[in-house]
Amino acid sequence: MSEALGRIRQFLTTHAPAMPCLVIDVDDVVARFGEFRAHFPTARACYAVKANPAPAIVRALAEAGAEFDVASPAEIDLCLREGAAPRSLSYGNPIKKATDIAYAYDRGVREFVTDSAGDIDNLAAHAPGAQVTVRLSVDAPASVTPFGRKFGCGPELAVDLLQRAERSGLDAAGLAFHVGSQQLDRSAWDIAIGTAAKVFAELTTLDLRRLNLGGGFGVSYAGEAPDLEQYASTVHHSLDAHFPGHTPEIVFEPGRILTAEAGLIRTEVVLVKPGDPRWVYLDIGRYNGLAETENEYIAYRIETVERHPETDGPVILAGPTCDGDDVLYQHTPYRLPSDLKAGERLDILSAGAYTASYSSVSFNGIAPLRTYCLVDGKLADEL
Ligand SMILES: *Cc1c(COP(=O)(O)O)cnc(C)c1O
Repeated sequence: MSEALGRIRQFLTTHAPAMPCLVIDVDDVVARFGEFRAHFPTARACYAVKANPAPAIVRALAEAGAEFDVASPAEIDLCLREGAAPRSLSYGNPIKKATDIAYAYDRGVREFVTDSAGDIDNLAAHAPGAQVTVRLSVDAPASVTPFGRKFGCGPELAVDLLQRAERSGLDAAGLAFHVGSQQLDRSAWDIAIGTAAKVFAELTTLDLRRLNLGGGFGVSYAGEAPDLEQYASTVHHSLDAHFPGHTPEIVFEPGRILTAEAGLIRTEVVLVKPGDPRWVYLDIGRYNGLAETENEYIAYRIETVERHPETDGPVILAGPTCDGDDVLYQHTPYRLPSDLKAGERLDILSAGAYTASYSSVSFNGIAPLRTYCLVDGKLADEL
């Protein structure tokens, strides 16, 4: 058990908060950020706020020297409130209103990611002179939670868009991509970096100097993910191969890898229905924190609390709401103790990313997932 997990379980024992709840060890997030920096010492690291926007996390990362990938005016306000400098924010969402751009620019944000002519025209009008990177779509293996075709453009359009940006008085700074979140296939980075290098080579008249590699680094849930060492070696190797002797400024936007393993959800069994397999209903489901179980994409590790049952058996796991889609796992094999009863507690591990931030406001009257942030092992923030 990691030290952070020990602190989290100690807090749960002494405070016995109402369930379900997420407990995040903020020091562990900062330690993971340090580890990330150590593997990419010359790169900029912008925390993707949407992974977990708890103010205590943003504050601690800002103090640790992180920059931030933001996607909306509210995320900008959050980062500024928690001590981030305006110039340390990168507006990474290519889908934004003209009013959102104006808001960001007014607050001092000068770095934007884009992937369309319409957005570039809005940037030229409302963020004059700002640095722009164009997001490439990635023609690479799908990740566990893929973006599909929603974002990015092909290399030909990227060339046009960068020229358009420059012509309209923006600073065409480079390219961006995101290989898909929880990307377990490291070849995705090589393919994307190779495509980016071709665009750089074609546009030597512009001052292209930045390559934003986004996030996508996986963590181990029920299955194993590559470790940071392996990801870093792939990325460095690809950068050397495709940009020999002249690596651009590298930016990352890590989200999941900084927060997932620093958090644990404690949940209570609401009901067990006998059968083969049994149906086990938890007090947390798709709508109050476990959105990433959609399509059973993310298979969390789930453990009983301090109990080693003699026998276990297969279960279907479902959430508490009156919605037929609120079923967590019916195809992924899960096993729980044969004598599992209502009221028993379970721990959902590596649950610090994309849980609280995905929780609905009050579907079926169920409150958003409560989050407890620990600093120095003590409660710093309760959300
Ligand atoms: C969500 C997101 C990230 C973070 O991705 P992870 O897979 O969690 O690391 C980074 N950049 C952008 C633009 C995103 O939308």
